[in-house]
Amino acid sequence: MKIVIVDDQRAVRVRLAAMVEKMGHEVFQAEDGERGVEVWERERPDLVLMDALMPVLDGYAAARRIRALEPDGWTPIIFLSSAEADQDVERGIDSGGDDYLVKPVSRVVLSAKIRAMQRIDDMRRRMGDMTRSLAEANRELARLNNEDVLTGLANRRCFDESLRAQTREAHRAERPLSLVMVDVDFFKPYNDHLGHQAGDECLRSVARVLETQRDQPVEVAARYGGEEFALILPGHDAAGALARAERLRLAVESLHLPHVHSAAGQWVTVSVGVSTLRSATDDGAWMLAEADASLYRAKRSGRNCVVAWR
Ligand code: GH3
Ligand code: MG
Ligand code: MG
Repeated sequence: MKIVIVDDQRAVRVRLAAMVEKMGHEVFQAEDGERGVEVWERERPDLVLMDALMPVLDGYAAARRIRALEPDGWTPIIFLSSAEADQDVERGIDSGGDDYLVKPVSRVVLSAKIRAMQRIDDMRRRMGDMTRSLAEANRELARLNNEDVLTGLANRRCFDESLRAQTREAHRAERPLSLVMVDVDFFKPYNDHLGHQAGDECLRSVARVLETQRDQPVEVAARYGGEEFALILPGHDAAGALARAERLRLAVESLHLPHVHSAAGQWVTVSVGVSTLRSATDDGAWMLAEADASLYRAKRSGRNCVVAWR
């Protein structure tokens, strides 16, 4: 361990230092509280052995200062003092000390106390490690909870939640909100002829387009289910959303993913339906129903096109 010994009496300090060094620890010395805090700041030791009564800054004040300097950390502090009244012990503990030994202290007792502090410190560190890995696991869990496994886009759960929240926010801020629903054209024959693995790869490609077409972090690109995707566009009125949808449709077509069994052309294409928030009573479910109806019309009018209803 790195141990700082703070004591104004040189003889005591040297004797203590020799003792602690012999136990196998690295020792730093300071002759008053002020210097003690300085050495602590520089060395960030594992333990401080602190005399109580010293000139310039006494041990109690030094301990309080160290505690204030590391609000999230904890360096064990053991007071070593010749004052043995109950009140002295109480004062040492109250000012932030973890233990209080009366001088002169025997090598055996000091060594045992140091080992006890080390044990507590090890436990504290292990707990810190555990807390950190738990927090990381929770973050990973939250990510998995909201992510579509195949494409990495937002999943259905995340989409539902986002649409609900964005609808509320749009009403509150009196800002436009649009929803774009995307469905791959003739995807069943694509699967049937090229196999499900190729189908999955195709869905990943379409998903990448949605991801790259996401202009701002507030926009949500999601896999709604199967070969259906969605893009939530806060701040977009009907005209703005129509333009974004058309850009998206064209981007998919431009991938030129061969699809000889598509009746809509020789490449993989998508049909797109758009809805835009209108009255104060429109909610997420309404947005979805409207976009779905638009999508249905896009399918009916030959696919590979965008429809914004009404
Ligand atoms: P339309 O142009 O009218 O949309 O026709 P479609 O063939 O695309 O529509 P349909 O709903 O008949 O077929 C969707 C197909 O999508 C059927 C299903 O096997 C496939 N599919 C759904 N989810 C997945 C998936 O995760 N991976 C793969 N490879 N295929 C999927
Ligand atoms: Mg579909
Ligand atoms: Mg389809």
